[in-house]
Amino acid sequence: MTRPSRARINLDALRHNYLLARRLHGGRALAVIKANAYGHGAVRCAQALQDEADGFAVAFLKEASELRAAGILSPILVLEGLFDAAELAAARILDLWIVVHHEAQLRMIERDPSHGALHVWLKADSGMGRAGFCLADMFSAYARLRASGKVEEIVLMTHFARADEPDSDATTQQLRAFAAATAELQGDHSLSNSAGILGWPAASRDWARPGILLYGADPMPMGSMGSGAALRSVMHFESQVFAVRTLQVGDALGYGGGFVAARLTRVGLVAVGYADGYPRLAPTGTPVAVDGRIAPLIGRVSMDMLTVDLSDLPQAGIGSRVELWGEQVAVNEVARRAGTIAYELLCNVKRVPLVYESS
Ligand SMILES: *Cc1c(COP(=O)(O)O)cnc(C)c1O
Repeated sequence: MTRPSRARINLDALRHNYLLARRLHGGRALAVIKANAYGHGAVRCAQALQDEADGFAVAFLKEASELRAAGILSPILVLEGLFDAAELAAARILDLWIVVHHEAQLRMIERDPSHGALHVWLKADSGMGRAGFCLADMFSAYARLRASGKVEEIVLMTHFARADEPDSDATTQQLRAFAAATAELQGDHSLSNSAGILGWPAASRDWARPGILLYGADPMPMGSMGSGAALRSVMHFESQVFAVRTLQVGDALGYGGGFVAARLTRVGLVAVGYADGYPRLAPTGTPVAVDGRIAPLIGRVSMDMLTVDLSDLPQAGIGSRVELWGEQVAVNEVARRAGTIAYELLCNVKRVPLVYESS
């Protein structure tokens, strides 16, 4: 038997979530498939979505060129924009849409020896304080793009810092700042990421940019949104119990010996570890589904395996199916226990085969 660990990727669930995101937002939506589609496999996800999706977004040029090489003809937006003139030349050849968010990128276009046809998303910093032109510079950045004679279309965009906080007024302030900065400018608008789509209907404009929502993880705090129930999980991170042993009272388990058996404890060894992307910081008590029932992780997660307490599941044993996250265990819950976010866990899945299916 080969190692029984894998990530099943349900492409129907992905399509369902994309259509849900677009319906909630209205208008059009770029499916954000950067970082290998948050660990789900960018090419396969793009192929599964290309009939429905209005376009895709990735972080940088190479991620886009891999999609083009795989035959994806849809619009592809490069969210980080380009790093140098050679990348701009490549972006023209690949017919990519590009974000322009700082002065050097603007100058790159002005000095570009080629002419015409660039499709630019001009990014304003409306309050995140990270990428984007400050509001006072938006008008001149826009005017310089127009004057360059190299841009056929400009979409005006911004990005929210705190859209996953329903009680913060930061998003309302960003909306106001963006409206002021773009009042005089022509072009479509794009504001919302997943949290914007779910939490801030007032932010809906021409284009949404859903990412984590596509993969079925609700970025809003638990219980704040009814629509969480309508999302379908896309990745099912699975393995099996491959060995069982019993600890006597007082026996220590695993690296560091931090877990000490307080009762006679049946321990199941599961063939997934942090080298596969399961978070090492997931503590004792993190839920793991074994044959459909929840058992607690115990002891420290190692590189190639982790350990679960099977004492209350006498039927479980070698060969029992284990779900690390997916249908029975929410990736958000594992992330919360490990002190991180679902984004990071999904992006980190590696070393296990990705197995694609439609349900
Ligand atoms: C990654 C990214 C998104 C998608 O964010 P989610 O929170 O995953 O929906 C949208 N817009 C930009 C600019 C991004 O970088």
